[in-house]
Amino acid sequence: MSNPLSSRPAKVPYRRIATEEAFAPKEMLDIYNKILAKSDVDVGFKNLMGFYMSSPSERAQHIMSGLQDMDELRLAHMDATGIDTQVIALTSPGVQIMDKETAVSFAPISNDILAEACKKHPTRLVGMIAVAPQDPTAAAKEIERAHNKYGMNAVVINSHTHGEYLSDQKFWEIFEAAEAHDTPIYLHPNSMPKSMIQHFLEAGLDGAIYGFGVETGLHAMRIITSGAFDRFPKLQIILGHMGEALPFWAYRLDYMHTATVKSKRYDSMKPIGRKPSDYMKSNFTFTNSGVAWEPAIKFTQEFVGVDRVMYAMDYPYQYAVEEVNVLDQMKMSDADKLAFFQTNAERVFKIPHIPA
Ligand code: MN
Repeated sequence: MSNPLSSRPAKVPYRRIATEEAFAPKEMLDIYNKILAKSDVDVGFKNLMGFYMSSPSERAQHIMSGLQDMDELRLAHMDATGIDTQVIALTSPGVQIMDKETAVSFAPISNDILAEACKKHPTRLVGMIAVAPQDPTAAAKEIERAHNKYGMNAVVINSHTHGEYLSDQKFWEIFEAAEAHDTPIYLHPNSMPKSMIQHFLEAGLDGAIYGFGVETGLHAMRIITSGAFDRFPKLQIILGHMGEALPFWAYRLDYMHTATVKSKRYDSMKPIGRKPSDYMKSNFTFTNSGVAWEPAIKFTQEFVGVDRVMYAMDYPYQYAVEEVNVLDQMKMSDADKLAFFQTNAERVFKIPHIPA
């Protein structure tokens, strides 16, 4: 870990709002320990949280302490890297690795804990709503409860739930609630399901390096091709990691989607209202979490518009002041930089505007 204080970011004419930041309450880690102790524990979960929760490495220790702290340590790390506000979600896989009953009962507990922390630091911490897709009706109710009670304006879903995808209409009560309350869904990566992970795992490519993007990109594409946005035209999805690379695929996705539908090759690929890339421009916002890379950010801005690309750090997993400095220095107009770092996040998450 580099010393963030050695190269503190400059004062800039925008507030830096980081939009894909994580936390893990101790109460959830206790549940995780019980799951990890089982003989049939999910291989991806064991390889991800099983590693971080037991490794003595400096990286794992930093992540575990950063995930749990919602006070001095987190704020000190934010100050050291020039982050004014974090938009925080229950870390992956959240409650989605739990059995249905535990997940449904723990999601509101976790939201209560997060709301309490945000209340203590109202200009620094903003919370997203965790839900248990295992019970779509309960998830829809929790969106309503946390939104109304705490003013939380976004939902986090850590990709698949026990190998199932939101493209399945049995989950669409969640989309209905998200659309009704105008709460975008941050579709965040999860470790790959058992049926997918082996070929990635044997090469060490299952995690954030590559597998997360593949699996979460697949999830987003499944939602698009399912026709969900024709049913819920106002539904908004947030995708991290430069849209899990989907913007770079867009031309081929459009061409092959049209060709595949026309060929009637799959019962699961029916005609939908518009091209996949059209939905990316109207129903998605992309963040640069984990990708502090000017060409990728600018390409995505050019593709979907500057209003649909937001800043994210991915704290505590990717905590680096050098990256903030690099992004401050992007060759981009002041107006576009303001949108990227601050005002897009204020609009998407309904965060009250604070001038820089
Ligand atoms: Mn993340």
